[in-house]
Amino acid sequence: MNTRFPARTGKPASDETGFRNRANIGAGRGEAGASCNFSRGPVSNKETLPSFSERFPIVNVPLMDLKAEYLDLRAEMLARIDEALTSMRLFLGPNVQALEEEFADFCGVEYAVGCGSGTDACQLALQAAGVRPGDEVITVAWTFIATLASIVHLGAKPVLVDIEPRHFNMDPALVEAAITERTKAIFPVHVYGYPVDLGALREIADRHGVLLIEDASQAHGAQWQGKRVGSVGEASAFSCYMSKNLGAYGEAGLMTTNDKGLAEQLRLLRNHGYTGKYEHGLVGYNSRLDEIQAAILRIKLARLEQSMEIRRRQAELYTERLAGTPLTLPYEEPGFTHCWYMYNVRAPRRDELVAHLEARGVATAQHYRIPAHKQAALAPYGLNEISLPESEKASEEILILPCHPYLSEEQIEYVAEGVKEFYG
Ligand SMILES: *Cc1c(COP(=O)(O)O)cnc(C)c1O
Repeated sequence: MNTRFPARTGKPASDETGFRNRANIGAGRGEAGASCNFSRGPVSNKETLPSFSERFPIVNVPLMDLKAEYLDLRAEMLARIDEALTSMRLFLGPNVQALEEEFADFCGVEYAVGCGSGTDACQLALQAAGVRPGDEVITVAWTFIATLASIVHLGAKPVLVDIEPRHFNMDPALVEAAITERTKAIFPVHVYGYPVDLGALREIADRHGVLLIEDASQAHGAQWQGKRVGSVGEASAFSCYMSKNLGAYGEAGLMTTNDKGLAEQLRLLRNHGYTGKYEHGLVGYNSRLDEIQAAILRIKLARLEQSMEIRRRQAELYTERLAGTPLTLPYEEPGFTHCWYMYNVRAPRRDELVAHLEARGVATAQHYRIPAHKQAALAPYGLNEISLPESEKASEEILILPCHPYLSEEQIEYVAEGVKEFYG
């Protein structure tokens, strides 16, 4: 029996990592190493009825399973939520403060500041660091639209550079040519949880006297040269949207910095510039993190290291099983540590493969089918006309395969078998 994964099908047993497996694989196939059988032949005429899984050999492989996680953590969640509600300290109270300390420790930075969402985290980090209307901010189109929206909301101008084709991150070789007198910041995204080349970008930013702000919304825990992402830029933004590696059950975001003054600005901006009773030092926003979300995030943060380890083993298994297929697989360069928010591949005939896998119960995603510069929302900012060949090519080839702590080894093998079946 393969024991590399914490738990196996059918028996929701606790294991050393504290995660329980609730994989949805048909019952009755507990044999060690049972391989996936795609044939849906006629129901046998044996005397005993065929098992459910023999009759319906489709395996459901969801992109994520937040309910399984909740059921695992339920007792602790309910106790902490009840505690918060009973205290009636609902915003910016003890849980927010503790979360900020724990997240700063996790990231290896001096300060973490909670806020209302990842989008707010991006906008407040840019603003607190000094981005003002009319400034240019260099970023990528290969991201969720919030990265660009946060720039636009500040009245600043997004200047887009293309991605490098291996890891889909901002190509540092293209950044220098995009710098002008109006450039205020470089704003890269650690896409899918793989760190951007922070060394190259830090060096360019310092040489040109511009800021480096990280959009780390997808990369809690990823590392560059042993440093966590979110610790190299002047300020960094993290989303705690439910689907992210550190996800709340409502809206939440976190910002990190090593600069005391900047941390103070972030605290003011998120809470209407509140400086004391009836006093406001600046015009800020309502972006308060609430105690219930902070309590939930503390429980999940305590397990983040373990869940990253499970994702890592899953990614390794995918990489092993998908070797030799026409897919281009993700990998880590020396000094770059993925947190495997997503297992992303390039797939020839991508849309046909999506249909093939979906017909077999395997959910997939295609971030980003439409890169940000082709979104109608950004037409008024003159972005639709620009050409970013690598981003456009990636949008036709990218495929995200399920990778989350509640997948079993069998499910991953099933996905890999489905891919192999497709390419013959
Ligand atoms: C999710 C995400 C955001 C926005 O976060 P929300 O919490 O949804 O506001 C910003 N940037 C990137 C790269 C993201 O993936």
